[in-house]
Amino acid sequence: MSHLIMKFGGTSVGSAARIQALADLVNDERPKIIVLSAMAGTTNALVDIADSLYANQNDTANEKINALESTYTEVVKTLYLSEKSLNKANELIKSHFDYIRSFTLDLFTVHEEKAVLAQGELISTALFHYYLEENEIPSVLVPALDFMRLNHIDEPDFSFIGKHLKRILKENGENLLFITQGYICRNEFGEIDNLKRGGSDYTATIIGAVLDSPEIQIWTDIDGMHNNDPRVVQPTYPITEISYNEAAELAYFGARILHPTCVLPAQKKHVPIRLLNTMKPDAKGTIISEKGSGRDFIAVAAKDGITAINVRSGRMLLAYGFLRSVFEVFERYRTPIDMITTSEVAVSLSIDNPSQLNEIIKELENFGQVQVDQNQTIICVVGDFSRDKQDQAFRILEALKEIPLRMISYGGSEHNVSVLIESQFKKQALTKLNEVLFLNQTNNQGS
Ligand code: ASP
Ligand code: MG
Repeated sequence: MSHLIMKFGGTSVGSAARIQALADLVNDERPKIIVLSAMAGTTNALVDIADSLYANQNDTANEKINALESTYTEVVKTLYLSEKSLNKANELIKSHFDYIRSFTLDLFTVHEEKAVLAQGELISTALFHYYLEENEIPSVLVPALDFMRLNHIDEPDFSFIGKHLKRILKENGENLLFITQGYICRNEFGEIDNLKRGGSDYTATIIGAVLDSPEIQIWTDIDGMHNNDPRVVQPTYPITEISYNEAAELAYFGARILHPTCVLPAQKKHVPIRLLNTMKPDAKGTIISEKGSGRDFIAVAAKDGITAINVRSGRMLLAYGFLRSVFEVFERYRTPIDMITTSEVAVSLSIDNPSQLNEIIKELENFGQVQVDQNQTIICVVGDFSRDKQDQAFRILEALKEIPLRMISYGGSEHNVSVLIESQFKKQALTKLNEVLFLNQTNNQGS
């Protein structure tokens, strides 16, 4: 039996009404596994609670815990019809929050933090399960902690996950509808861990991959990936088809829609990912598969908060090993590099995490002159930039001709051209690219 995977984000389980709508959406005869996030805002609140616990501010922590608990007791008041379900839900909520409260009395370490962060998904899945039960829709709640596991390098342990998930499904062979938690897992020692913020998408694609599912559906509150940022420019349209590689490039910029790491497991097993909108369940959404769109330009995305660092040194001239020394500095400070451009005597790099910037600069100054520009934005154009094509860079640069460019990156992959600009020009850049690459090109227009 092949199971469809359907993952729903925080807003899709964010209120009684949304949970009720969700039940209608999943209630059909197709065998499926439902992956749920925590209710919207919960994981942020739990992070906040953990911060207070770390800081030994137990009174503040208690206030925050009580406040979060009452949002749940409010939701369940209107979610269930029967007294019985309501009581069960209230007991469940109380037991999870009592558990969180227990950490105000005890030592708080990274292990306890992970246990606290796991509570959101544990609660949302149980409440949904109770709701289905009340409505006589048969379902099985499968604890993610029983099969979702990381290996010694904190990567998903695909063989463990596959083996145990298949066993659990087999043991419940007569059932069609399974529910499990996104985001949470165990580490190689069996301790509670997670797949990092936004990791529920990853849970869904890992499950889809190990089960060779026919399709992984990621349901959010937007209708798929758009060709441009609808918060900044109008009009934009949803992309109907996009390849795994193109989607991975875009995901980094539009993490709100899809977690960037999650494309890989699906790609490896050739399982299509479909992005859908719970508010408009009949809209086509975006399908991510082997097959690209075949268009020259597919989408434009932007990422703010970028810092550009330029290192200039006579020592770089005809030398080898220089770039390695520069990269090693970033490695030591665990700071990923996004864009790179080089000349014979200088290299420019961009980073999106400036937390170690001062230390990095200090070390880079050993190699030469260092210049730093903050408030930069990466504009990323995703499309088919195959080597035999000739005018695409020209069209991008023509669209941007009135904007000062700090860096240009072409040829890193066949799917991405990126430029770095000052953030104040972002709207202008996205608007111009929209006009030149999408709105004027009728043959490029999405459906
Ligand atoms: N609840 C987790 C988070 O907010 C995981 C997820 O929603 O994907 O990061
Ligand atoms: Mg998400």
